[in-house]
Amino acid sequence: MKNQRRDFIKTAAIISAGGMLAAKGASGTMKELVALFPANSAFELPLLGYSFDALEPFIDAQTMQIHHDKHHLAYITKLNEAVVKEVSLQNQSLEQLVKNISKHPESIKTAIRNHGGGHWNHSFFWTLLKPNTKPSEKMEKVITDNFGSMEQFKTNFEKAAMSVFGSGWAWVIKDGDKLAITTSANQDNPLMDISAKQGTPVMGLDVWEHAYYLKYQNKRADYLQAFWNVLNWNKVEELYTTK
Ligand code: MN
Repeated sequence: MKNQRRDFIKTAAIISAGGMLAAKGASGTMKELVALFPANSAFELPLLGYSFDALEPFIDAQTMQIHHDKHHLAYITKLNEAVVKEVSLQNQSLEQLVKNISKHPESIKTAIRNHGGGHWNHSFFWTLLKPNTKPSEKMEKVITDNFGSMEQFKTNFEKAAMSVFGSGWAWVIKDGDKLAITTSANQDNPLMDISAKQGTPVMGLDVWEHAYYLKYQNKRADYLQAFWNVLNWNKVEELYTTK
């Protein structure tokens, strides 16, 4: 993704600097740019790294396919459409874009918040899903130290995830050495400088209905129970250790 994004930025910069499109007005140039560089030539859909049915029966293959190939891709397409309009944002990584929401130009702030957030959140989420892992002794101790027990942690996390009204996410964030559970609406996340509770995510769960409705319909609680079977504890530990 990085190389292609750099190429995209370089080429877009050359063209927006003048040259072949200089004779057109600013809005004409923008239309040309969008046409010449379709959105997916910038940020790209990451591979899942496993098959759509790898998480069956807990998360079904059809949900995974639609979630990844349609929902996630749509966030990326719309993010690219926003970024291409603002040269000052074209050298920023996804993480920078997401962290600095409050600093973006008003005209595209909401688009970056929703679609940049959507791209970051889903890219993160896919890495947190894997069947048949379990917490190491180290992570058991970290969880117990922070929440009292593994059972208490799960209860607290499920309660937080159930409390999200409408669409959003439940998170475990690292704030200093401590872990905390938090939630966000829509595609916000705790990295964003506009978040009420900020920190580095080590775990996140999509509780939008599109994440579970085909299999669980309105029963979000059942989806939460199923999630523990496919949570990638190895990834949680890696994030906890390195972030
Ligand atoms: Mn989603």
